Amino acid sequence: METTSRPRILMIYTGGTIGMIENPDTRALEPFDFDHLIDNVPKIRMLDFEIDNVQFSNPVDSSAMNTSHWIDIAKVVEDNYDLYDGFVVLHGTDTMAYTASALSYMLGNIDKPVIITGSQLPIGEVRTDGEENLITALQVAAAKDSDGCQMVREVAILFENYLWRGNRSTKHSSDNFNAFKSNNYPPLARIGLGITFHREALWRKKSTGKLEVRYRMDPNIVCIDLFPGIPESTIRHLLNTPGLKGVVLKTFGAGNGPSDPWFLAALKEAIDRGVVIVNVTQCSNGCVHQQRYLTGWGLAQIGVVSGHDITSEAAVTKLMHLFGEGYGPEEVKRKMETSLCGEMTVC
Ligand code: ASP
Repeated sequence: METTSRPRILMIYTGGTIGMIENPDTRALEPFDFDHLIDNVPKIRMLDFEIDNVQFSNPVDSSAMNTSHWIDIAKVVEDNYDLYDGFVVLHGTDTMAYTASALSYMLGNIDKPVIITGSQLPIGEVRTDGEENLITALQVAAAKDSDGCQMVREVAILFENYLWRGNRSTKHSSDNFNAFKSNNYPPLARIGLGITFHREALWRKKSTGKLEVRYRMDPNIVCIDLFPGIPESTIRHLLNTPGLKGVVLKTFGAGNGPSDPWFLAALKEAIDRGVVIVNVTQCSNGCVHQQRYLTGWGLAQIGVVSGHDITSEAAVTKLMHLFGEGYGPEEVKRKMETSLCGEMTVC
């Protein structure tokens, strides 16, 4: 690559609506190739950046993603880390928050931007949001601080008017152009006429170490979304899933669950077998306070870990990452109560 002072950005195209076109037979949207996408954004050439791209050999709807896709993205970032100032990942919106969370744990010691974006309407459509999202993501990835270092040094989601921390984000609308939100963390930047970064919210790494990619993810996790009247057989069935290591227990309000003795007994049996159970609130905003009510206090007493204000996307992928790294249940519990890369506030 020639030496240049122009920002060097690598785009990684994984699929998603942004690059989809309509199948004439089924009328359903299907992933298409990268050239189609770029042909529809001629304005990219107006940016004074050096932009290269890598495309997945088989672009996917993000609902079809699994841990191997996250590994593929992390590998591209690792292989190209020293060659580029920043990375823009084009991705479907459905599981974007999971990918962003997973990458935040996988890309240890990151100090460059990995900006994930996509769109609600395909880039070939007249009213597409894809063109603006892509161009703004490239600008965010190229932005420098007054010290000449990258402004953003973390995995983030750029969508419509905001830049969000990746592991704090949730897809909150299937229709709105502002499809993402962090309910418990402020935006990293506001996109209006200009891009206004909120410096106090941006991640600054704690160590001086080099990028360290942690590829192993253990998918032996279940998510249990409680509802009043949930049967004992359902809870026991899920907790007896073969190979189960971690549970994200989605509870009511400040971290409360049923007070039936069988409920606590079933959870306790799983915890005694070494399963880590993390309490994450079903509320879109706020924190788990297990000690506030008797129904939450019981969970704390048997060893359920508080997820504080973590999203379920960030909790699921954090458990996958920690078990993937080979930590035992006690260490996983300890790390689930600690913020590793800005994914939660201990409240
Ligand atoms: N189903 C699509 C996907 O996640 C939706 C989108 O990209 O907006 O790939």
